[in-house]
Amino acid sequence: MRSVAIIGGGITGLTTAFRLSQSRVPVVLYEAGDRIGGPIRTINENGYVSEYGPNTILETSPKITSLINDLGLEQRRLDSNPAMNTNFIVRNGKMMPVPRSLLRFATSPLFSIRGKLRIGLEPFIRAKPKTEDESLGDFVQRRFGREFLDFAINPFVTGVYAGIPENLSVRYGFPKLKALEDTYGSVMLGAILGRRKRKERGEIKKTEAKKLSFDDGLQVLPDTLHAKLGQAVELRSKVTRLRQTADGWTLTFTRNGREEQRHHAAIVLTATAYNIAQIQIEADELANLSLLKEIVHPPVARIVLGFRREDVTDPLNGFGFLVPKAENLNILGSTFSSSIFPNRAPSGHVLLTTFIGGCRQPELANLPEEKLFDLTLLDLQRILGVRGKPTYRHHWLFPQAIPQYNVGHKKFVDLMDTTETHLPRLYFAGSYRDGISAGNCIVSGHDVADRVVQFLEVSNRSPSPHAILS
Ligand SMILES: Cc1cc2nc3c(=O)[nH]c(=O)nc-3n(C[C@H](O)[C@H](O)[C@H](O)COP(=O)(O)OP(=O)(O)OC[C@H]3O[C@@H](n4cnc5c(N)ncnc54)[C@H](O)[C@@H]3O)c2cc1C
Repeated sequence: MRSVAIIGGGITGLTTAFRLSQSRVPVVLYEAGDRIGGPIRTINENGYVSEYGPNTILETSPKITSLINDLGLEQRRLDSNPAMNTNFIVRNGKMMPVPRSLLRFATSPLFSIRGKLRIGLEPFIRAKPKTEDESLGDFVQRRFGREFLDFAINPFVTGVYAGIPENLSVRYGFPKLKALEDTYGSVMLGAILGRRKRKERGEIKKTEAKKLSFDDGLQVLPDTLHAKLGQAVELRSKVTRLRQTADGWTLTFTRNGREEQRHHAAIVLTATAYNIAQIQIEADELANLSLLKEIVHPPVARIVLGFRREDVTDPLNGFGFLVPKAENLNILGSTFSSSIFPNRAPSGHVLLTTFIGGCRQPELANLPEEKLFDLTLLDLQRILGVRGKPTYRHHWLFPQAIPQYNVGHKKFVDLMDTTETHLPRLYFAGSYRDGISAGNCIVSGHDVADRVVQFLEVSNRSPSPHAILS
């Protein structure tokens, strides 16, 4: 059997390759860079274990659990400290816990009485037609009111997308939320009435899902996948061209400045959208993927700081805090990394991971390192009562961090759908298509591998129309 090419060695590509290998499909994974994992990267330095990108994976699907178990990583997985599950939102310069029950919501200082009454009216707000693409900001303001948008949703989408609700599409960025309105006429009623269906689908509610990592950090996952795939992973191999043939694709890639070609039975595109846009496609049907470069990827700077425990006034009893735009701070939010996983800082010390930039303030992300350390320290002094000098610091810039599923995203989805329909041995998977979280990417890799296996099984039984014609 001819091998399947996977383009991109992030968590999507690695999962795809591993799942295909388990089905005895030979694979070659091409990765342009000199390491795998994309933003999943851990640094272990001076007793601090810190993450470049994701700090945790939300275990919302059994497909995530089975990947970990199939890799033999059960003993190495770490579940976040359940006592540290509280998320905080900053209001009037102070951290306030996000209420997780009706009673807590009723007594929470996060929203005014007026704001709470407006949120309570949500089941009585008329639903909008299913077909309309609406921004998350408009959707939330329409259904829950302005205060909920400003002090719940604005910081929430900052934490997830580094995005802004006024740009993100509710249909494409938050399809489950829109589906609740479409199906039940109300988000709140849908959340209650849809419980059984979610259970049937094996879905785990985000608020109930475990947040996990590994003893030596999240990089354990891509590293283990890499080790299992062995020679099938080709680093420093950038794919530049794909030419359709009678029974597959000829792939051109560059390695060490030299161009090489290989034939594959199918191609799975898991590279970042703006990189896929640069790959030249020669096929019977017109396939121009350059439109994908229009998917916005804002810059994000991530600043990690270690402190002596006594130099931080706040007890850091929680997961971390997010900052609404209305608070006018420099930082987007901060994760209490050593509260979630105590082994992330040396004894008597704490570790905080802070993000700056995103769609809200893209210009800040590109500031020089020293300036970013200063801005972060200033905001952490205000919110957490940080006093002393950091005992550890590390900075990293993601110039194009997270794909934004903005209003108008339909044109990208349509392009991918029609390309897959007309070019049956070409597949799209990854954060630009199936959801941006690392968990979404694992599910995306798992599902695309199933689709490829199914196609190959069918096409191995019957000659392809191409083979008959040629
Ligand atoms: C700062 C930050 C924080 C995050 N925090 C979280 C979090 O807390 N929780 C969470 O669940 N998710 C988080 N995410 C999101 C999540 O990490 C990503 O969406 C996910 O890792 C993307 O995986 P991927 O495989 O789709 O793409 P990537 O990991 O981007 O992989 C794509 C790969 O393709 C390669 N490539 C590109 N072009 C080519 C080519 N032509 N040929 C060959 N290879 C190519 C690239 O080098 C890259 O390695 C975060 C992301 C960032 C940036």
